[in-house]
Amino acid sequence: MEIACLDLEGVLVPEIWIGFAEKTGIEALRATTREVPDYDELMQQRLRILDEHGLGLPDIQEVIATMSPMPGALEFVQWLKSNFQLIILSDTFYEFSHPLMRQLEFPTLFCHRLVADEKGKIVDYKLRQKDPKRASVQALHSLNFRVIASGDSYNDVSMLAEADAGILFRSPEKVQQEFPQYPAVSEYADLRREFCKASLRELSP
Ligand SMILES: [Mg+2]
Repeated sequence: MEIACLDLEGVLVPEIWIGFAEKTGIEALRATTREVPDYDELMQQRLRILDEHGLGLPDIQEVIATMSPMPGALEFVQWLKSNFQLIILSDTFYEFSHPLMRQLEFPTLFCHRLVADEKGKIVDYKLRQKDPKRASVQALHSLNFRVIASGDSYNDVSMLAEADAGILFRSPEKVQQEFPQYPAVSEYADLRREFCKASLRELSP
């Protein structure tokens, strides 16, 4: 049995924090681990900024609901689901991704969780586990699934390495150069072809 594992942000939907910063005009929310390398510090900073702007979870979800998956993403997910079992492995939060996942017809998603108080203010976040993408592929292997995975960035590399086949999709030049062992494509039609090539079955893209 074969399972497809896909990253979410950068593969099916735009980067959620950046999209949110653009929609709200809150520039400070564009910061990533490049500016603030410590993830905990970055998240505390983000939560503080949201609070300063009086943005609770419902407001945030309303903004995210105005964002859309990338053109062609839904059709790609539909094709993938008709040929593979599909699991999305993401470092986002269920509460943020929900409005976008609705537009993708709710494929299975393994990610992290936010904690909000009764007024909707986000007070904390819970990472599901350490190195969750690698751990998920290892778990699927223990269930005797063969795994084909695709992602765009550094946080996907352990997932690609652990999988039986890995594909880079719309990844920065630097990532492609560092990891030349993975085929790199940037159109969904080509990604479909790569999944067919990686499969042990006869599939048509
Ligand atoms: Mg990504």
